[in-house]
Amino acid sequence: MKENSVKDILNKAEEKHSLDKEEIITLLQSGGDELIRAADGVRKKYAGDGIYIRALIEFSNYCTRTCYYCGLRAENNNVQRYRMSPDEIVNTAYAAIDKGLRTIVLQSGEDCAFVMDELCRIVERIKKKDAAVTLSIGEKTYKEYKSLKSAGADRYLLRIETTNKELYQKYHPKMSFENRLRCLEDLRTLGYEVGTGSLIGLEGQTAEMIAEDILFFKKIDADMIGLGVFIPHPDTPLGCTAAGNFDLALNAVAVTRLLLPDINIPATTAMETLRPNGRLLVLSAGANVVMLNAVENSEQKKDYSIYPDKAGVNEGLEESLAALKNSLAKIGREIIVSKGFRYNNRGE
Ligand code: SAM
Repeated sequence: MKENSVKDILNKAEEKHSLDKEEIITLLQSGGDELIRAADGVRKKYAGDGIYIRALIEFSNYCTRTCYYCGLRAENNNVQRYRMSPDEIVNTAYAAIDKGLRTIVLQSGEDCAFVMDELCRIVERIKKKDAAVTLSIGEKTYKEYKSLKSAGADRYLLRIETTNKELYQKYHPKMSFENRLRCLEDLRTLGYEVGTGSLIGLEGQTAEMIAEDILFFKKIDADMIGLGVFIPHPDTPLGCTAAGNFDLALNAVAVTRLLLPDINIPATTAMETLRPNGRLLVLSAGANVVMLNAVENSEQKKDYSIYPDKAGVNEGLEESLAALKNSLAKIGREIIVSKGFRYNNRGE
């Protein structure tokens, strides 16, 4: 009976790209191989076989926030803090562009030391080359998002983390769920490609909450969805809790692909960290994007320790690219040189 109903739900999802909450919960809990195959088929049809590569520059690990799960939280004194200079950031971006990458992702903790003018100049300098710029620097005002957009930023990543307000408030002290929503709305109004996503596996999170997250992604018509799996960091209040369930996160990726067929979905580093070959499994379950760390200083990469033992920190960009090309060949996929906007998936 259950198998039949999974099949029916998958047929509906493949045809209509729309499911109700109960149907999503069923897929999250018992989707299995059929779910993964269906999502992979939808990915192939709407987003193609190419993999978009993003060059990630984690330019500062200073953070004023105290998110309970994150190793960069302001109250963690065991982390060696660093901040790259504007020239270092721009030169790292240029080196990645020279290696054929066409999207630069600038990510940091919420670091007030970078004033808006300085950030805008960095974006402008990178945009002089042929590349898209994605920012992932947290909550800002409408005016600040507008300045960064005018400087040339194309996309913005801001995970909602969870759409369950109670759970959000529990893990994000002194932060406001409404403000997070306001940020996502402002980014959309300003014409950014908007990326959001959730952290799967926080204690207290249920399959119903994850289903509501996915319905939220659909409602706001997000252009990119990053689903990370929670990995405990020993120097945080959640250091002793269990890691998230890889298979549940994999199912969440697959259901997200079924409901938002043409968006960009990265195979997140957390998934590769939690399970060997995790990245390939996610790329075979609906994902079509990989972010590679473009910073060459391995000490800095280690210090961006949102969780321990992050995959790939000992590799340089060239090495990561070569390894990725090899492993993609195993699943019949290949890197395409493209800025990789959502509309590229629609053949525009
Ligand atoms: N400050 C920016 C923001 O708030 O969007 C970007 C940096 S933040 C460190 C990037 C992402 O790291 C978050 O969206 C969060 O989901 C993820 N993250 C933090 N701690 C994590 C953990 N312990 N396990 C898995 N992912 C984690």
